[in-house]
Amino acid sequence: MRWWHLLPLVLLAAIAADRFHSRARAMPPPLVTDPPRLPPPVETVPVRPHYGHVVIISEDGMRADAVQHLHLHWHELLRSHGAFSFHAMTIRDASTLPAHASMLSGVLPKVHGLTWNSWQPKKGWIHAITIFERAKEAGLSTAFFSGKPKLHHIVPPGTVGIYERPGYFCKKVAEEAARYLIAEKPALTFVHFSDPDDAGHAKGWMSPAQVKAIDHSDKCLGIVYEGLEAAGMIDDTLIIITADHGGHNRVHSGAKKIDREIPWIACGPGVREDYRIPETISTVDTAATALYALGLPIPSDIVGVPRTDIFTATIAASVTAN
Ligand SMILES: [Zn+2]
Repeated sequence: MRWWHLLPLVLLAAIAADRFHSRARAMPPPLVTDPPRLPPPVETVPVRPHYGHVVIISEDGMRADAVQHLHLHWHELLRSHGAFSFHAMTIRDASTLPAHASMLSGVLPKVHGLTWNSWQPKKGWIHAITIFERAKEAGLSTAFFSGKPKLHHIVPPGTVGIYERPGYFCKKVAEEAARYLIAEKPALTFVHFSDPDDAGHAKGWMSPAQVKAIDHSDKCLGIVYEGLEAAGMIDDTLIIITADHGGHNRVHSGAKKIDREIPWIACGPGVREDYRIPETISTVDTAATALYALGLPIPSDIVGVPRTDIFTATIAASVTAN
C-alpha cells in the first residue's frame, strides 16, 4: 500500500475533528453559580400552653413494659395520640406513698417527709407543698380520688377541694371520678387505680392474674376518658397517665430497674402525637408539667422540670428575646 492510498481516510478524520470542535465552540459555557442562599437557622423555643384542666391518672404498680406490650385499648389510643416514654423512672424508694408524694409535689422523700408506706394518721401530713395546694392557692378547683387510704397523707385538710376514696378497686374510683368531672369540671384532678399492684403482690408481676388486673385498669382509664368527653373537657385538658412503681416476682423494692421503670403518657390538644420522649423522665416531672400546663409558676425549690418538649407549638427564640 502506498501512502496516497491513505489520503481519503486522513481527510475524513480532519473533517470530523473540525465538526466536533465547531460544535464544542457553539455550546454555551457552563454556568458558574453561587451556592443557594439558605435563610439562617431559626432557633425555636416552646410556646407555653395553657390548659383549663389537668388530669393525672396513676396506675399503682403498672410496669412500663406492660403498657408497651399488652395491647391495651385505651392506653394505646392515648399513647398514639400523645407523647410517651416507657422508660420513665420513679424515685429510688419505689413504694406507693413516697413515690406518689414525689409525683404530686415534685420533690424527693427527704423533703416531703413521707418515708413510710401505710396509713398512719398519727404521723401527720406531707411536709412539702403539693400541686393541689399550689393550684388551690391560685384559685383553681382540685379533686383527689384514691383507691388506697394511705394516699390521704399527701393531701392535708384544706389543701384540696375534694378528697374521696370511693373503693379499693379502680371501677368505683373511675366511675366516681368521671361523675365528678362531669358535674364539677375541676382544674386539677388526680385519680388512683389499685388493681395492677394488688394482683402483682397476690400472684406476681406479669402473671396471668396481673395481666387481667391491668386489663381492668385499662377499662377504668376508658371510664375516666369518656367522663372527660361527656364533661366537654377533652379540648381543654392535658391527661397524664403514669404509675408509682413497677415490680417483679411479688415485690417492688426499688433495687431493680424493673421496680422503678414506669410508663408516662401525656395526651391532649397541643401535645405531639405518637412522640417518643427521648430523654429520661422522672416521676417528679409530673408535678412540674402539671403546674406548667395550668399556667402556674414553677417553684425553684422543686426538682421536677416541666416537659416542654411534649408540646407542639414553638416560636422563634429571637421573638421571645425582644
Ligand atoms: Zn404502689
